[in-house]
Parts: sequence; structure tokens; C-alpha cells
Amino acid sequence: MRFLQGRGFSSLRHGESGRSLTRRQLRAVVAAMRLLVEEDVARGVPDTHDAWCAVCQHMRPARGSVGYGHLRLCNRCAIRYEVSLMTGRWGETRRLVLAPATVPK
Ligand SMILES: [Zn+2]
Repeated sequence: MRFLQGRGFSSLRHGESGRSLTRRQLRAVVAAMRLLVEEDVARGVPDTHDAWCAVCQHMRPARGSVGYGHLRLCNRCAIRYEVSLMTGRWGETRRLVLAPATVPK
């Protein structure tokens, strides 16, 4: 989780819909997503195993990455996505993840 350190997610707390997360809620989301990393470690996913993130378009540690439908997101982008769902914030991450599920009218 080196890439999470030193980069705050506090800017994500306030959503466009007016919903905001408390610091405590934000910490809970980050903690929950970090648990995924620990689970992958326990399952034996090697530290050297990387996976392509559909959002940030980089190879990121497979540990803690999350599948959303046909997309795989790195842990950091998954945190952004989960927070966007909670705050109603329509960032690029949410657009990318939800776009395939959108049925054109
Ligand atoms: Zn990513």
C-alpha cells in the first residue's frame, strides 16, 4: 500500500450531491479496502503479482485490487470508487466503472 501513503483522500470527502463523509467514515472505507490487501496476502497472492487497473491505466499490485463487473481496479482507485458511491460524487472513476452498465435510451 505504498502508493496510498502520503496521499490523502480527504479531498474525496465532499460529494457533488451535498453528501459528505466524516473523517471517520472515510477512514472506515480505507480500512475496509486495506483488508482486501490482507486477504490477498493470506490467500498467497505474491507481492510481485501486478494487475492492470482500468481506471488509472497502470500496472498496480494485484493484492487489494477489486473486480467490478468486467473491470479490475487497483486498491487506490477502488477506494475512490467506493467513496464516490457514498458521496454521490461523479468522478471519472465512477463514470468509467458504471458506463458499461448504462443502458442507452
Ligand atoms: Zn488504479
